[in-house]
Amino acid sequence: MALARQDRIAAGEGWRPRRLLVTRSSLGFAQGRAIVERAAALGVEIVELRGDRLALDLPNDPRRAYALAKSTLAVVVAPPSKRRLQPIAPSADWRVDLAEGCPAHCSYCYLAGSLKGPPITRVYANLDEILDGLAAYVGQGRVTSGSRDRAHEGTTFEASCYTDPLALEPITGALSTTIAWFGRWEAPVQLRFTSKFADVDPLLPLNHHGRTRMRASINPPLFGRFEGGTAPVAARVAALARMAAAGYPVGLTIAPIIAADGWEAAYSALLDDVAASFAAARDIDLTVELITHRFTAASKAVLDSWYPGSSLDMGAAGRTTKRTKFGTEKQVYDAATMRALRRFFEERIGVVLPAARILYWT
Ligand code: SF4
Repeated sequence: MALARQDRIAAGEGWRPRRLLVTRSSLGFAQGRAIVERAAALGVEIVELRGDRLALDLPNDPRRAYALAKSTLAVVVAPPSKRRLQPIAPSADWRVDLAEGCPAHCSYCYLAGSLKGPPITRVYANLDEILDGLAAYVGQGRVTSGSRDRAHEGTTFEASCYTDPLALEPITGALSTTIAWFGRWEAPVQLRFTSKFADVDPLLPLNHHGRTRMRASINPPLFGRFEGGTAPVAARVAALARMAAAGYPVGLTIAPIIAADGWEAAYSALLDDVAASFAAARDIDLTVELITHRFTAASKAVLDSWYPGSSLDMGAAGRTTKRTKFGTEKQVYDAATMRALRRFFEERIGVVLPAARILYWT
């Protein structure tokens, strides 16, 4: 019997779009054709477009338009401007996009402030061109290549800035291709991705040669109501442990850290659960990235329209304005809250995950 969408994700089987839009140029690439074949085999409706313009045909009603956009995957060709890599501190030297957009429904999603227009997901058909362009960036970055503490990671390429690549893997296969490609690339390089999904089965047998680090993006189950359409946290942690057993370097992205009532007990229990999952692991290469909740006026406006009933606190109380190096402003927790959060995480991680390396706090 076919599983409902959320049941499939809970069972670790990944997301499936309702319809696949295919631009004409994308069919000129083997990856574009492979995505169409995979989608057709899964029973997804395929819409082949006459040209390269995405005709979304969304209803006027904002709720229905949102739902249809989120369940649409488009196969497009990444133009040269999208293949020019940008630095992505503090995660990695460079951002590499295999896709843009995400099918999940997180009421704090940072993509709301980054990507414009209806929230459809676009996946790139010219994956080979994207990967072939990476060699020019080796040794050029400042986050890991130019850092004393992280230089051993090599030149790092982050694939989760504008998407959750594991969410799309059942349809695209792009993450497996990229991991295997890095596995063959005999150079001081590392692919990085983070995910709120759990279907890692296709990744386990790949010849990754330790050149891909997966992180599980986690938050306590208490905040699960803010993470619609994702895999349960316990499944994400279990998936990460399986990746570690398959020899991958792994990590935790604890994000966004939310200072709502009960946060201390909730994050304590979360860290205890992670420690229990890795208790039997030997020689594990485990990192932790700590990212506090933040938003901009623009992202708040988009998120309020997408998730009007969300109880996620985006009020002014307990917040302060931080100006970015690009001159924009974002709302972060005030100094006292930040201090309390940071002290808690650094102490607690030191106790329950003493072998873990904290990469950054932000
Ligand atoms: S899983 Fe990540 S990218 Fe996807 S909606 Fe949630 S926060 Fe956004």
